[in-house]
Amino acid sequence: MNIEKYHQIQSQLPDSTRLIAVSKTKPVEDIQMLYDEGQRLFGENKAQEMKSKHEVLPQDIQWHFIGHLQTNKIKYIAPYVAMIHSIDSESLLVEVNKLAAKNQRVIPCLLQFHIAQETTKFGFTLEECREMLQGEVFPTLHNVKICGVMGMATFTEDMEQVRQEFRHLHDIFQTLKTDFFADHEDFKEISMGMTDDYPIAIEEGSTFIRVGSAIFGVRNYQTTAISH
Ligand SMILES: *Cc1c(COP(=O)(O)O)cnc(C)c1O
Repeated sequence: MNIEKYHQIQSQLPDSTRLIAVSKTKPVEDIQMLYDEGQRLFGENKAQEMKSKHEVLPQDIQWHFIGHLQTNKIKYIAPYVAMIHSIDSESLLVEVNKLAAKNQRVIPCLLQFHIAQETTKFGFTLEECREMLQGEVFPTLHNVKICGVMGMATFTEDMEQVRQEFRHLHDIFQTLKTDFFADHEDFKEISMGMTDDYPIAIEEGSTFIRVGSAIFGVRNYQTTAISH
């Protein structure tokens, strides 16, 4: 836990950018400690983990879901999630809408775009997204609210490449804003930037940086099978 680093990041943020503290794999004690420092936005990438943390931690925490979401897990987060950053298909959005309706709420969502060179990262292409937004299903989804876009840059030391990818996401945001969301004032978020690249993301117009290890320390992904 690096409280000093946390305050340093917070103090350097422009008014237009908010920090999501990514607490995945970290214990509730660490989250509570950061909460006591004033942090309210936390990010998780596993639905059940978010649910169990939500149950025991202060109820005014805003939980941001940032991982790949399976449709059968939406139920664990739908009642309280503040925003889902990782909508990467129409079918997922349809299911989120269903669970949101069941909980009598509107869930804020971001459209995730594939901006990295790696083939492993999830997300729409601009073409796929346009198809969804122009389709017949999208206008019927009244229990989701599209608030912007999200993306992850390539895991590389080439910061010029990272900057180009963030710029690309910013362009996608502008295009969608102009073509589909011109009079939707809620369409205003660009979620980009992690521990290794958040300063660049801020320069390129990020409104949400998602920072984990710089604050909480490196993650220890322990498997249930302990090797001998
Ligand atoms: C884990 C994760 C982060 C935070 O990563 P750090 O490098 O630890 O800051 C941000 N965004 C997503 C989607 C993640 O899965």
